[in-house]
Amino acid sequence: MTQTTLPTLPNYINGQWCDSKATESLEVINPATAQPIAQVPLSPAEEVEQAASAAAIAFQTWRRTPPTQRIQYLFRLKVLMDEQFEDLSRTIVQECGKTLDEAKGEMRRAIENVEIACGIPMMMQGTNLEDIASGIDEFMIRQPLGVAAVIAPFNFPGMIPFWFMPYAIACGNTYIVKPSERVPLTMQKIFHLIDQLGLPPGVLNLVNGGKVAVDAILDHPHIRAISFVGSTPIARYIYSRAAANGKRVQCQGGAKNPVIVLPDADMEMTTRITADSAFGCAGQRCLAASLAVTVGEARQTYTDAIAQAASTRIVGYGLESGVQMGPVITAQSRSRIEQLIQLGADEGAEVLVDGRSPQISGYEQGHFVRPTILKNVHPQSEIAKTEIFGPVLSLMHVETIEEAIALVNSGQYGNMACLFTSSGAAARQFRYEAEAGNIGINIGVAAPMAFFPFSGWKESFFGDLHGQGNHAVEFFTQTKVVVERWSQKDWSRKF
Ligand code: NAD
Repeated sequence: MTQTTLPTLPNYINGQWCDSKATESLEVINPATAQPIAQVPLSPAEEVEQAASAAAIAFQTWRRTPPTQRIQYLFRLKVLMDEQFEDLSRTIVQECGKTLDEAKGEMRRAIENVEIACGIPMMMQGTNLEDIASGIDEFMIRQPLGVAAVIAPFNFPGMIPFWFMPYAIACGNTYIVKPSERVPLTMQKIFHLIDQLGLPPGVLNLVNGGKVAVDAILDHPHIRAISFVGSTPIARYIYSRAAANGKRVQCQGGAKNPVIVLPDADMEMTTRITADSAFGCAGQRCLAASLAVTVGEARQTYTDAIAQAASTRIVGYGLESGVQMGPVITAQSRSRIEQLIQLGADEGAEVLVDGRSPQISGYEQGHFVRPTILKNVHPQSEIAKTEIFGPVLSLMHVETIEEAIALVNSGQYGNMACLFTSSGAAARQFRYEAEAGNIGINIGVAAPMAFFPFSGWKESFFGDLHGQGNHAVEFFTQTKVVVERWSQKDWSRKF
């Protein structure tokens, strides 16, 4: 907790910007420069209560607004986001540390989710069957739940709330966004666009904060559904506490994503793609490759090529042209990552490319770690199991695809697994057997498009319905079944 002269960001509740009454706040730091760029309030439970009450009142009218009218606000939001695309992307770079291209990719995916949610009049339809018994018909209708909320992580400040929010309100729910307290600025700017939509007050609300605000969301009786994205320990906590309070809950957690390289892979393409996966966004993607498992003769060629790619990656401030990788989010993250690299070395791995303590000219205070490669990582070592969430790729080696798949399946997480090969049969075997919810075949970041669910498995996900697409529509609606019979007498009545 520190004091700065920077203004404290307001919340957006019931259609109004309002200053938080928080007694504590945090500095938002640009990770490349280590300079404070804003101050975020750690809002108290009362402000969650205000947002939840406003959302509950707004729900009564919003759920009666026809879906075709509800989506008109989303069409307008898409236009405004397209107009502000450059500014929003630059804000992501400033608070989160990505390169501008990475930030633009993120914003594009956020906008795609708005576009897909505009299909709600089709996606939200129910089903029916006439004559389930003679003269009796049955319908399944989807109705919104009420107030829902998202608790978001730091690594995609623009995109992740959009895996949920557009679907939630298009389905007739009202909504609260709680961004990561480390990167609140992008959502602040997006809510300035939301403020221009003319939405009824209370439909969309923004509450900044940390644990106190999260716990208030988890316990609030008006909030019916919670989406969480973040680390696995917090995902487990959110899932249990929200479920114990009777809420519908979906929690996407951490990851340790393996990529398998077969000897028949196109090595140039494989190296380029896996380097982007491991080091893009400074390794702070939940779909970042973290383990590369070479099979048979792929070992030497791939090891040499990926070491070369790691050593030559251009690291710096993401707003500067030509930069291929930015900093990690905080100084604490940097020291944690560096300690984990040391742990790998202590456990017997060779630090083939060492990215610790780099000097980035002009950004000496920034939270930089250069791409790092650990070679000969033992599958049972801690470093092979721990989510590093930084630009560190661990190399392992096996002799067969079966051993490689067994290694993939031995992990506690199941967010993503990828295979690089030119064999269709190997690809099918991998797709069929790998225990992960997002599979890449010659793809390094197997991120589902907005119209597919973001399908983590195992300790990468707690719940059953994921974010995006039809899963989001199911998550944000409850089904109602109507069984209907009309008497024969009515049929024959003369008018
Ligand atoms: P985090 O778990 O620290 O924080 C996520 C959210 O939880 C934040 O809004 C934070 O305010 C809140 N929070 C943190 N500690 C809390 C506590 N004790 N009680 C209540 N709320 C708390 O995650 P992060 O560091 O912001 O994000 C990185 C993590 O997110 C990584 O583990 C990454 O793999 C994961 N992630 C997963 C996915 C996915 O789709 N599976 C996507 C993006 C990120």
